[in-house]
Amino acid sequence: MSGPRSLLQKPVQYLSGVGPRRAERLARLGVLTARDLLYHIPHRYEDATTVREIGTLTTGDEATIIGRVVSKGVLPTRRGLRIFRAVLRDSSGLIECAWPGQPWLDRTISRGDAILVSGSVHFYHGRQFRPREYTVLARESEPFEIQGRVFPVYPATEGLSHRQIRGILESNLEPLLQETADRELLPAEWRAELDLPPLQEALRVLHDPESLAMVERSRRRLAFEELFFVQLLHARVGRARRADREGNAYVGAPGLTAQFQANLSFDLTRAQSRVWEEIRQDMESPRRMYRLLQGDVGSGKTVVAILAMLKAAENGVQAALMAPTELLAEQHLRTLRSLLGADGPAVSLLTGSVTGEERRSVLSGLESGDLQLVVGTHALLQPTVVFDRLGCVIIDEQHRFGVEQRRELRDAGTGSDTLVMSATPIPRSLALTLYGDLDQSIIDELPPGRKQIVTGVRGPAAREAAFDFLRKQLDEGCQGYVVYPLVEDSDAIEARSATEMARTLEERLAPHAVALLHGRMSGAEKETVMRSFLAAEVQVLIATTVIEVGIDVPNASVMLIENAERFGLAQLHQLRGRVGRGSAQSYCVALHSSSQIPERLAAFKRSQDGFELAREDLRLRGAGNLFGSEQHGVARLRFANLERDVDLLMRARDRAREIIAADPDLTSSPNRGFARELAEHYPDQEALFSVG
Ligand code: ADP
Ligand code: MG
Repeated sequence: MSGPRSLLQKPVQYLSGVGPRRAERLARLGVLTARDLLYHIPHRYEDATTVREIGTLTTGDEATIIGRVVSKGVLPTRRGLRIFRAVLRDSSGLIECAWPGQPWLDRTISRGDAILVSGSVHFYHGRQFRPREYTVLARESEPFEIQGRVFPVYPATEGLSHRQIRGILESNLEPLLQETADRELLPAEWRAELDLPPLQEALRVLHDPESLAMVERSRRRLAFEELFFVQLLHARVGRARRADREGNAYVGAPGLTAQFQANLSFDLTRAQSRVWEEIRQDMESPRRMYRLLQGDVGSGKTVVAILAMLKAAENGVQAALMAPTELLAEQHLRTLRSLLGADGPAVSLLTGSVTGEERRSVLSGLESGDLQLVVGTHALLQPTVVFDRLGCVIIDEQHRFGVEQRRELRDAGTGSDTLVMSATPIPRSLALTLYGDLDQSIIDELPPGRKQIVTGVRGPAAREAAFDFLRKQLDEGCQGYVVYPLVEDSDAIEARSATEMARTLEERLAPHAVALLHGRMSGAEKETVMRSFLAAEVQVLIATTVIEVGIDVPNASVMLIENAERFGLAQLHQLRGRVGRGSAQSYCVALHSSSQIPERLAAFKRSQDGFELAREDLRLRGAGNLFGSEQHGVARLRFANLERDVDLLMRARDRAREIIAADPDLTSSPNRGFARELAEHYPDQEALFSVG
């Protein structure tokens, strides 16, 4: 084992060819130590094995070429656009390359440079090459060797080109690689199973590859290791959390739960029954429940959540349901009360808007234990809220709580059975990465008789017709929503604002009553508006995405979304889920402002399966851009790709769970290396990964 003074731990500044100035720039790329440099792997490769001869190019070709710059310069056009041009020569001929709008390249590309470019051949006074990518291979006097080579291209920064980074790596790679010889963390058996190379080989290939196929195998190696450590953290956090409570085996005879099921006007779907069974078993076992419940919009998660709350209550402990917004908490309250019926157990509400005498009475009821069921927002987490015996916590739309609130949720729920609900389905790989410490339950079936929601995606030309359609539906007694991405007009963003549109639409849709709902209104104001919409005193709700999650008004059958291209797929699907809740045929019209249908909207029209749309969202946007991901460390996944590496992820999870089950403190000899790695490279991560 290399000691603490290993070369890898040295500040990068002391490596050959670095020094203080470059070290400063490398720091901007997150490279502080020699190890960081070794793990600073190329973000792409230029494959010189497929390079074409310049003389053979014709208009329309897509190609990669290599040549020396024989002349260059910046030319302004009449429209004020500045174009950088460089003429490249190889042994077969010459071609002009043009980079419109990138005059600064004049400073990075010099005469005599050997550069590799890939792009397409256009016709402009003869052939002209339009590069999409370029790589400087060598400066004027330097020789370069391209025969059969794949060139690594590194993430670079101002003042430090990828070529300089490649140079630094070239002169330090061997000694750095030597240091990794005794740092292999993955047992040979694991590697054999997944066909992964040893660490040293993987790093060598990534920095100095012979073929792109070898690059991918090596990337998978680093990806697996990365996923494994994330899963190891999850397994550890999950185990610690479940182990921390004896004596919450709720095995009393069914009373409230049986009564509730008997009184329901429908049967649970098979998926609901299965999930309820999973939850019931958790609650009856002394092990603490720590579970994520996923289900598509309208799949009936609330009913299952109520069963869990009632199970707590019939065993003499309290249950709390927490929602991210007051609006949603208030609606949960209504749903619970109506489903539980007039003779059912009492449910109280605690949000920021519950004040004065009412608040005091709820607080004292919770403290004495007289109140068994409570619904609220994060107001439930304040230190003034004391429970007599909280046994079950249900968190709706967990990801919409802020990081700080999530931390509080985690502490507050300690010891209680915890069910986290997500109304925005996320792909399994993302769920395992974000919530790997939770067990997972999925309701993958909708209640019977649900009609498909007729979905249209329309461009600017059809906007008037869409509003005419809305009007016609209103005339027939339906209600509808018009959703905007913004609350108030902003010059910077040309999105139509709900506030302004409410005024216009009031006239356009008269005599039907129009009301506005947005996030800057007080809880009381929102509540008033929602009540009048529910009572059908208001026919059209002009809203921002505050209505996105969970709002349930069965008579609403038209959803019109303006500037739909501004919403994510998951959000759009949530919005669509606001209609189709009653017996009438429902419609969703997504209006966009481009001339072509954006890819995301095409997917939205094609599918009404939330899980499928979630996978598509992941594919289109990448994990780091999906809600909350960055706060959970998904954005820190550097090598793994949650879309492609599902096999690695599943294996990593199984391995991690096996290890933690057998050796929770990672004290046995093969596992000590894992413990050390976690301590060294994943400090503070447990807090980030844990939720609820
Ligand atoms: P989610 O929270 O998953 O979006 P809800 O729990 O709000 O869904 O349920 C949506 C609607 O479906 C509610 O009106 C609910 O009463 C109804 N529902 C739930 N389960 C069933 C079922 N098994 N059969 C028929 N209707 C159901
Ligand atoms: Mg719900």
